[in-house]
Amino acid sequence: MNTIKLYDENAYAVEFTASVVQAVPLSGAERLLVILDRTLFFPEEGGQTPDSGVLEGFPVTDVQIKDGVITHTIACGDPSLFPEGKTVCGKIDWEHRFSNMQNHTGEHILSGILHSVYGYENVGFRLSENTVTLDTSGQLDDEQIRDLELRANRVVWQNLAVTAAYPPAEELEKLEYRSKISLTEGVRLVTIPGVDVCACCAPHVARTGEIGLIKIIGVLHNKKNMRLTIVCGKRALEEMQLRQTQLEEISHLTSRPADDAASGVHKLLEEISQLKEKVTAAELIRVTSIVKQHKDELEASGAEITSSCIFLFEKELSPLAQRSLMNGLCDLGVRFAGVFTGDDETGYRYLIGSRADDARVPNAVLKERFSAKGGGKPEMVQGSVSASEEMILAAVESGGQVR
Ligand SMILES: [Zn+2]
Repeated sequence: MNTIKLYDENAYAVEFTASVVQAVPLSGAERLLVILDRTLFFPEEGGQTPDSGVLEGFPVTDVQIKDGVITHTIACGDPSLFPEGKTVCGKIDWEHRFSNMQNHTGEHILSGILHSVYGYENVGFRLSENTVTLDTSGQLDDEQIRDLELRANRVVWQNLAVTAAYPPAEELEKLEYRSKISLTEGVRLVTIPGVDVCACCAPHVARTGEIGLIKIIGVLHNKKNMRLTIVCGKRALEEMQLRQTQLEEISHLTSRPADDAASGVHKLLEEISQLKEKVTAAELIRVTSIVKQHKDELEASGAEITSSCIFLFEKELSPLAQRSLMNGLCDLGVRFAGVFTGDDETGYRYLIGSRADDARVPNAVLKERFSAKGGGKPEMVQGSVSASEEMILAAVESGGQVR
């Protein structure tokens, strides 16, 4: 027997009584599956999450519908509390329900306008706990999105009545309405006059003014389609409050008015870019000086340059400076030149180069001893390693048969 959908008759009722048809324990969990003769709990259906609330004081954690029968999952492990025929009390979470009604009705308005103005179909809808997404069969540019928003909110301001009815089959045949699947009977048509007629099973607000605000906060283009993320009513207010908090912080940090905060961020990014250039220039000067110092030392030592190795450790060095230092050292004609950046605690990123030998030899030692991650060609390897400077040096000097 089909469950009587009390929410169909009155979307604004919060409490109800019903008779238990069946209560079955859910194996392995302190949960019961309860079927009632009637319910106010809207099940998960049509892309919308189910109502939450309590049944006889026990939290209702899920509501599903199958073949017209609605099943409530409740956080109770004792079926004896729900004998067949017992009258039980249920109460839905009104805040949650009303938010769903606001968002769902807002979606109808947007879909109706997309259909009548652009001829687009709604090809996907999802109303979750935090977001509402709406997939359309065509795309709009930024200006059209703003126009869509304005048109949708005009419908809100008009405070139009939203009605739901089950028209008889012969009447249904003649009616034009939006629907993802074609049905012939038991179709519930939700009408917003002049805006939208759509087959839908969910609860809606009675008048469009109750939606408060319809705001599109995300547009994702995907080939020929478009996914809109929308917020309505209380969610829209909360989203705007959250964004305002963020914007005020950016405005404060950049010392720009909130409606021009982006220019402050642009200015900061430009300054960062200029500073980076200066740092790089300074680093390259330092690199040249380090290379020169090693050249002088090598020459003064009288050592055989082609069998010498240089491994340097620098706490901070940009990738460009690291590469430049390694190349500069290699150019001295040494066997291996390695530059490690980082520290003993966080590990090192390294580059090892060689002009006449194979840089993969010391790299293999690092991999074997310290499970270093890296690789490359005979002329250059790069990688990362977690070990102390002392241990790394000892390893590449002994295991690599260098120096
Ligand atoms: Zn609907």
